[in-house]
Amino acid sequence: MGERLAPHRPGRDDLRALFPVLAQEVNGLPLVYLDNAATTQTPLPVLDAVRQFEQHDRANIHRGVHTLSQRATEAYDEARRTLARFIGAGAAHELVFTSGTTEALNLVVHGLSTAGAAPAVLQPGDEIIVSGLEHHANLVPWQQAARRCGAVLRILRPDAQGRLRAQDLAALLTPRTRVFAVTACANATGERPPFEALLAQAADAGALTVLDAAQAVAHSVIDLSSLACDFMAFSGHKMHGPMGTGVLAGRRVALERLEPLRYGGDMVAWVTETEASFADLPMRLEGGTPNVAGAVGLAAAASFVDRTGRERIDAHLSDLRRHAAEGLAALPGVTVLSPDTGLTAIVSFVVDGVHPHDIGTLLDEQGIALRTGFHCAQPLLEHLGRGPTARASFAMYNTYAEVERLLAGVAHALKVLQ
Ligand code: PMP
Repeated sequence: MGERLAPHRPGRDDLRALFPVLAQEVNGLPLVYLDNAATTQTPLPVLDAVRQFEQHDRANIHRGVHTLSQRATEAYDEARRTLARFIGAGAAHELVFTSGTTEALNLVVHGLSTAGAAPAVLQPGDEIIVSGLEHHANLVPWQQAARRCGAVLRILRPDAQGRLRAQDLAALLTPRTRVFAVTACANATGERPPFEALLAQAADAGALTVLDAAQAVAHSVIDLSSLACDFMAFSGHKMHGPMGTGVLAGRRVALERLEPLRYGGDMVAWVTETEASFADLPMRLEGGTPNVAGAVGLAAAASFVDRTGRERIDAHLSDLRRHAAEGLAALPGVTVLSPDTGLTAIVSFVVDGVHPHDIGTLLDEQGIALRTGFHCAQPLLEHLGRGPTARASFAMYNTYAEVERLLAGVAHALKVLQ
């Protein structure tokens, strides 16, 4: 397996050959897969790692003295260590496996808004600030928590270009601010906010800080140790790992304040008929049998991304994004959202008088997969005065030639639709 993980250049054929799903035709034409912000594809080394675990080591973890259980436990622990290194977690951090970003964020929100042995962290009158760039997964749980706890939810709205500004955050922070939550990249627009500075600003004001890294981990180096970040969430399927995997990582002292979401086996220290005490982190937040094969696959995905090189991938993706954004903006009636943002792999656009679903359908007829709609970020698009958009998003295997096919495909669709 290791030999297959030799470095590959983004966009080159030898790298693409490791993603068998790409080598197919859709509607009679070679597939151009540009829906990576929704889900990335999985390379052979990740599939191999999952298969290897399932074929040789599958057993429940932590509970057995037998050899397979020990191997499974070691594989799971090793996956945790690999991912911790991947995100720059240090001695003061912990990493919890989840089913994805949504579960990770819900774990945080539930954990801060629920009383256990100690009162809930969020109390009536407390304030939560959520950026206006967020996916619904980093907004709706906070809405619910605010309602449950009598806390106040404030939105850090972006400017008319969809950018977040430090002075607007300064105006919202108060001594009652308990939480600030922001994304590393807006999935609906591709905007890359200055999240490092915003997190530091909120932490300085005494808030717990939450980073949604779902749209960054597949290509950008996210170094937890250099961020003022208490909680960070991401999904495996957006970084070439298995679906139904993800991570909540963060500062141990912050994670210890979370009331668990799932009570049951594996997360307890002792249990009587009437009471229980909980295990230490990370197991305290991982009640029940985890997705061990998924964790193994996710770690293999992190290794794969690292062998390809995140700086190289980032440079490749921003080239593709720039070419796509410029080419789309030159087409009649097309407006690209966040045209000048920093490193990002997402280009979202609207066309005067044309519904994005119609563009998406005509592109699919040409074998090109992109996503249309609100991208689970309806408040943001409405704030920007936009409705649904068409969104192309790139991964390490996409090529310049595929961007050309996208541009030609959209031009053709517009001729039909305009
Ligand atoms: N946050 C962002 C920024 C996302 O793009 C997504 C997925 N589109 C999510 C959260 C939710 O991720 P998942 O569905 O994997 O839980």
